[in-house]
Amino acid sequence: MIGSSVVVRTRSWIVLCLGLLVVGSPAALAADCPGHPDALGTSRTLVVDPREHPRIGTMQYRETLPLKDHEVVLTFDDGPLPKYSNQILKMLDDECIKATFFIIGGQAKANPEGVRKLVAAGHTVGTHSMNHPLTFDRMPIEKAEAEINGGIQWTSAAMTDPSKLAPFFRIPGLMRAEGVENLLISRGIQVWSADFPADDWRHVSSDRVYQLAIQRLEAKGKGILLLHDIQARTVAALPKIIRDLKARGYRIVHVVPATADRPATPTTPVEWLLHPPTETVPIARWPSVPSFVFAQTEALPAPSLADLNAQTEHQPLLPRKTIALANVAATLPVPDRDLFAIPEGSVEVLLSTTLSRRAATRLAMAAETPRATRGKAGKSRGHRTAHAAPAGAKHTAQATGTAPKSIVPKSNAKSTAPKGAAPKSAVTHPTRVASLKKRAQ
Ligand SMILES: [Zn+2]
Repeated sequence: MIGSSVVVRTRSWIVLCLGLLVVGSPAALAADCPGHPDALGTSRTLVVDPREHPRIGTMQYRETLPLKDHEVVLTFDDGPLPKYSNQILKMLDDECIKATFFIIGGQAKANPEGVRKLVAAGHTVGTHSMNHPLTFDRMPIEKAEAEINGGIQWTSAAMTDPSKLAPFFRIPGLMRAEGVENLLISRGIQVWSADFPADDWRHVSSDRVYQLAIQRLEAKGKGILLLHDIQARTVAALPKIIRDLKARGYRIVHVVPATADRPATPTTPVEWLLHPPTETVPIARWPSVPSFVFAQTEALPAPSLADLNAQTEHQPLLPRKTIALANVAATLPVPDRDLFAIPEGSVEVLLSTTLSRRAATRLAMAAETPRATRGKAGKSRGHRTAHAAPAGAKHTAQATGTAPKSIVPKSNAKSTAPKGAAPKSAVTHPTRVASLKKRAQ
């Protein structure tokens, strides 16, 4: 009985704790979201100074926003396009989520009301060029500047209060170029890449967009998510993404630029790295090599024995100068012919390793037959040699593949020669492995 009451009590504690976990955190965040008790909400506002951290987003840069674990920043590019942007805006409003929008100048020009809606809803609005060319990495800097200016001009023109425009810029297609980045930075504009996209501009299903968003977020644990508010698949995926963010305990962070009366959130440099180096994580980059100046370096004299305080008894231990040998022959002697002699009985072994068993047996028999019949006469010849042909011309011919045809006669190879009548060719010519191999094929 005591045991079961403990189990019951433990269970009620677990239920209570789970209840607090599920209801507790979103309820606290959604306190400022009237009419939407289950809203994901926005957990905090991060104020950044573009001049201190001019390039962000680990897809391309070393630094990213100083987010804590499980913090997410939502960004939407290429709008506003009423058909989809309005639906996205409604979903974010219902969840009390604040995001960052990168506006195309052309879209702002066509739909200024869309820009005003974003500002009125409290979102951050940056720009994304005038016409969204995907050539920022190779266009002349003057053209890039005109694209940047056009986007800023038309987006701020759409606003009731142009000072609401954030000095945030995302290069179209993330086609970064150092010249463009330097230009933006010199004007105090922060260059935004992202930490992960969800590929919602590709021809994939909305389910795929949702899966990629969550998988990539889970892989990094936090970061800037890149989405587009001009795609039907993004509209379809967003509710599922928000639902999962809630279920997995992620928190939304709203990013705004620092102003004179709104100082940047205090941070440390290491917080701007997605995964700060730790003792347990190996460093992936090699340390940089210092640039030495050799211009005025002189060659120092080599140390002498006196510098080593060497005693006479140390002499055998000290290195000695190697004396170069004079009068060494420039070429090595030609090896003696005997060096290439193949001992009696070795031919069969050689053949068996290079030929099929059947061919080897046949050729071995052919080689054996005349020798057996030759008896002492064969033996008295000593060795068969592979390089027995005396003339240098023949050696050359062999090397270039124009060797004379097999020197083992056909009749001999087939063992059809009568015993005791060794063909002349077998006696007068040596056995050549290369030729035999050729025949066997
Ligand atoms: Zn874009």
